[in-house]
Amino acid sequence: MINGKSLVAGEWLGSADSFQNAPAIGSPDTFSKGTPQMIDQACQAAEEAFLTFGYSKASERAAFLRAVADEIDALGDAITEVGVKETGLPEPRLQGERGRTVGQLRLFADHIEGGDYLDRRHDVALPNRAPLPRPDIRMMQRPVGPVGIFGASNFPLAFSSAGGDTAAALAAGCPVVVKGHPAHPGVSDLISQAFDAAIKKTGVHPGVFSQIQDGGIPVGEALVKHPLIRAIGFTGSLKAGRALYDMCAARPDPIPFFGELGSTNPMFVMPAALANRGEAIAQGWAGSLTMGAGQFCTNPGIAVVVDGPNVAPFVAAASAALKDVAAQTMLTDGIAAAYRSGCEAVQNAGSIETLVATEADGRNAMPHLHATTADAWMADSKLQDEVFGPLGIVVKAKDLAQARELATSLHGQLTCTLHLDDADADDAQTLMPVLERKAGRVLANGFPTGVEVSEAMVHGGPYPASTNFGATSVGTLSIRRFLRPVCYQNMPDALLPSELKG
Ligand code: NAP
Repeated sequence: MINGKSLVAGEWLGSADSFQNAPAIGSPDTFSKGTPQMIDQACQAAEEAFLTFGYSKASERAAFLRAVADEIDALGDAITEVGVKETGLPEPRLQGERGRTVGQLRLFADHIEGGDYLDRRHDVALPNRAPLPRPDIRMMQRPVGPVGIFGASNFPLAFSSAGGDTAAALAAGCPVVVKGHPAHPGVSDLISQAFDAAIKKTGVHPGVFSQIQDGGIPVGEALVKHPLIRAIGFTGSLKAGRALYDMCAARPDPIPFFGELGSTNPMFVMPAALANRGEAIAQGWAGSLTMGAGQFCTNPGIAVVVDGPNVAPFVAAASAALKDVAAQTMLTDGIAAAYRSGCEAVQNAGSIETLVATEADGRNAMPHLHATTADAWMADSKLQDEVFGPLGIVVKAKDLAQARELATSLHGQLTCTLHLDDADADDAQTLMPVLERKAGRVLANGFPTGVEVSEAMVHGGPYPASTNFGATSVGTLSIRRFLRPVCYQNMPDALLPSELKG
């Protein structure tokens, strides 16, 4: 089933070098390494494809997105089988993620057919206006051109080859060149096969989708620096994301870098909620924290509480729930090693009380729970860093004023959560203006993992949650990242885009 090559504008290309995946289960498969030459070939083809795809009707692109979704569905069981082997994620999780991926493609198809994404505006000409007449001015959003996308390790489907970035770029009218993630090349290969089939069935230009398998840093660099690439979509670590962001800015013609770089997603457990249902909140937190071995960018790593007699039962309930969680396989050996060193850094920080810390070996992770004071947390940047995995810290503030001070000190976040009861409403109100400035999504009485793909969703936030605070990488608004406004002044009808005519 696995082809083992890169799909470059309709051709399956191999190279002299190969690499093997590192499956959690079973024996490895061999893949031809991607090369910078393949990137160049894919970008040239994407630019050629843009001349038709970038001017296609929304209904044509919608048909293509739906055809890709159908082809992914047709390969469903094979994708799950390879995905379980490569990532160690459980079968139901991968089935769910496939549903989210095809649902996203179909939602974006429906959305562009509605036409609102174009944000059309028209200032009618005022030829008799004094002292100067006003010309006819029309505006709409146009696709930016070929987009480079980095597949993410933690969502082999929904944030990778056919994931949110790809779906958004294609919906906008932008051909894509994907650099596959080395953690799941087999899944990427099958997704390329689905695109290949959909391209053949719908007759779109084969340059609309290419996927180059991993070939190390030079391949990613070639994509980011390619002169025909107009924007980059990325989900991953702060370190890699920042390096690629700087690379985009250092180009002779800088391009936007839409990076989603992670977050600690603090929860503020307000006093009445803590008193009335602290144990239930703690149990829910433990579930959210350990879901998928904590490998979610929305993992709620910090619970802020006001110190007092209700904190001990909250901590005891979280500890008990976390002690019941068995070892879970992480996505790669590297991610498991990074989790262990993150745990060590927290444990070795001053003023930390370790509550749960079972060691795990190899690619496994066990939950960690620690507690500290708000003073200590605010003073130590190591405690503020994201630890990618099931690690939680209870941060005890002296009072609500200090909880607010802590909120003010936060870096940009994907999410902030308030757990509150009616009696907390006034206190929570004082936190809202702070939290709104820190996060792309503010939640009440819930947990941030499980991001809905919908019209109103925002998955972004101020740096370092994302590199563009005005954008989201989930939901239909994510299409906007790959569009730019163009204004047409006094343009004859014949020269206007079809969507602006009349
Ligand atoms: P990563 O280290 O951020 O790497 C992501 C991709 O970027 C890889 O495909 C890598 O290519 C490429 N890359 C990195 N540096 C590059 C450079 N200087 N030039 C060109 N390409 C470059 O992510 P990861 O490998 O998936 O996981 C490592 C850590 O990232 C995790 O432990 C976790 O902390 C974090 N992470 C966070 C999220 C999140 O949602 N916030 C998601 C996934 C991972 P190569 O593989 O070819 O080097």
